Amino acid sequence: MSSIVHTDSCPICGGKNLKQAFSAVDHLVSKETFDVWQCEECGFKFTQDVPDEQEIGRYYESPDYISHSDTEQGLMNRLYHIARNMMLTAKAGHVTRATGLRQGWLLDIGSGTGYFAHLMTEWGWTVRAIEKSAEARDFAQQHFGLKSDGEEAFNTLQDKSFDCITLWHVLEHLQHLNIMGDKFYRWLKDEGALLIAVPNQISTDAKHYGADWAAWDVPRHLWHFTPETMKRFAEKHGFKVIKTIPMPLDGFYVSMLSEQRMGHKVSFLRGFWQGLCAWVSSWGHKERSSSLIYVLKKQ
Ligand SMILES: [Zn+2]
Repeated sequence: MSSIVHTDSCPICGGKNLKQAFSAVDHLVSKETFDVWQCEECGFKFTQDVPDEQEIGRYYESPDYISHSDTEQGLMNRLYHIARNMMLTAKAGHVTRATGLRQGWLLDIGSGTGYFAHLMTEWGWTVRAIEKSAEARDFAQQHFGLKSDGEEAFNTLQDKSFDCITLWHVLEHLQHLNIMGDKFYRWLKDEGALLIAVPNQISTDAKHYGADWAAWDVPRHLWHFTPETMKRFAEKHGFKVIKTIPMPLDGFYVSMLSEQRMGHKVSFLRGFWQGLCAWVSSWGHKERSSSLIYVLKKQ
């Protein structure tokens, strides 16, 4: 029984002409090398030959895996927490603007330690939070009294029951990309909004760091979107992208992380400088932003 998932047709366009683009190292956990491939038809990039769902868990086992940690030690972590609070409020604002609702039903997929789901609850939304990691769910329960469910809860969701579905840096981790795309459509009300935040592999910082760009994050990131491939993904599942929103802070964070993982001295300052350059270059050019939030509505 194989524990490796090999992709032999493009998940976005179905094209069979797939080629290796480059290799990237998992600096965070395993130090193993993984190949990023590209579809010659539509340009979509993806991580090839990834561990399957049973195996991939151990690639998340790192004390540095910041998404699941809550340490405030170290400058990187402190800044991360300040940035997170700014981003949380911004994200909540995007939900109310995209839906035109002050309150409603929200499905937050990959809710992690529950900060965003908790904030939305405080804003008066009814939130269904789904998170794969039992450790992260326990954290959410203990810190916020927030009940989140494991992925088995996907089977219990009703059609057209949510005003908004959010995936904050989560879609790139989901193995069943197209199955999930269809489910988002089913679960969302006809007037609802689907908000997807993912790294942008044609951003200024991605180009600067090349294979060392921290947001390749192999093998945890399976899919590497651009505005163009996200548009195709949306259309494939009956959506259209109605708005693209840059996430300026991500460029700083990803640049610092890239410098750190490359083992550069003064990685913080170098990363900050590169983040600043990337941010300035994205003024008036959203497609150069490190990460993007895509607001999708049904066609
Ligand atoms: Zn393709």
